[in-house]
Amino acid sequence: MSLLKIDDLKCHYMTDVNTVRAVDGISFEIEDGEILGIVGESGSGKTTVALGIMGLLPENTAISGEILYRGELISSLPESGMDRFRWKDIAIVFQNGLEVMNPVMKVGVQVTEPMKRHLDLSPDKARSKCADLFRTVGLDPKWMDLYPHQLSGGMRQRVLLAMALSCDPKLLILDEVTSALDAFTRKEIRDLLVDLQKKNGYTMLMISHDITFVSSVASRLVVMYSGRVVESGPVRDILVSPRHPYTRGLVHSTPDIFVYKDLWGIPGDVPAGDGFKGCPFSPRCTQKIDICTKASPVLMPAGGGREIACHRGGIAGLLEAKNLNFSYRLPDGEYLRAVDNVSLEVREGEVLAVVGQTGSGKSTLAHILANVIRPECGEVLFMDGDV
Ligand code: SF4
Repeated sequence: MSLLKIDDLKCHYMTDVNTVRAVDGISFEIEDGEILGIVGESGSGKTTVALGIMGLLPENTAISGEILYRGELISSLPESGMDRFRWKDIAIVFQNGLEVMNPVMKVGVQVTEPMKRHLDLSPDKARSKCADLFRTVGLDPKWMDLYPHQLSGGMRQRVLLAMALSCDPKLLILDEVTSALDAFTRKEIRDLLVDLQKKNGYTMLMISHDITFVSSVASRLVVMYSGRVVESGPVRDILVSPRHPYTRGLVHSTPDIFVYKDLWGIPGDVPAGDGFKGCPFSPRCTQKIDICTKASPVLMPAGGGREIACHRGGIAGLLEAKNLNFSYRLPDGEYLRAVDNVSLEVREGEVLAVVGQTGSGKSTLAHILANVIRPECGEVLFMDGDV
């Protein structure tokens, strides 16, 4: 049984003017000891998922679907029932320590509060455990007696982490924990999380728009777009070979991962409003077909532990050349081999560059691909049709 199971979760914010489908039917599971990353741009619904798991969504949210923790349905629990799971089973670290912490309470006191309330620890024992937690997250216990504004952003983030760990939770949710930090502190927090996971085997749900950060820690990725999961699978496979057009845009817009930076990024915006039909990525997709604007694609298994939601099964092939050969007949009757067993593939939305010195056969290849000259052997397929 998985530690956490989300099944067809929908969280719609009902406002006076419209309904915002922040999360619109997502499903995924987290196994014990696993680090799962959820990535996607701002507004994709990642934080709403975290708040939904914690039972912290605002009252104007219409929630359907199921959230199961160790097989127990927690999404329909009343506040008192959910409080039993918070801190001791599931804890969350939010992104902005200055907003989350009480500005007039010393940080050490704030870390001891959950321990006194949920573990029944005496003030002395809670303070002693707080000192241990400070050491665990790389802080000197002397900082316990400072106020949040007296600490740096990185230190506040460590305090929030200490607070989340205070009741020994099984599942730790980290929501954009490094987004406000500089690159150096981000690396420190990353190393700390990896270390904590190795030593204590925490199960983590890491939520961020920063695919570089998440993929350096998580083993599996869920890619969200406009409240839905568009792709999921092992981190390495997704980074090396993204299958959904949105995931490819995300990966190719990240120079740390894809060194040949795609200067175009992902043109267009996430659809706004509640009346959108079809695939939410269709306004930005270079390979959409008729059905894409009419019906929403379902997340389907795609082999190798991967899932993709796309009517075309993911990034589609556009042009394929197989084993092309071409020779020019010279005036003396000899033959010059210009293209020698060349194969290539260009997929929808891709830019493929063919380079080589003069006389290497580039132009001849282009003429074959454009069907200006016919190859001696081999074939050229355009959108799966022989040309
Ligand atoms: S091909 Fe259609 S379903 Fe697939 S991502 Fe593009 S718009 Fe969405």
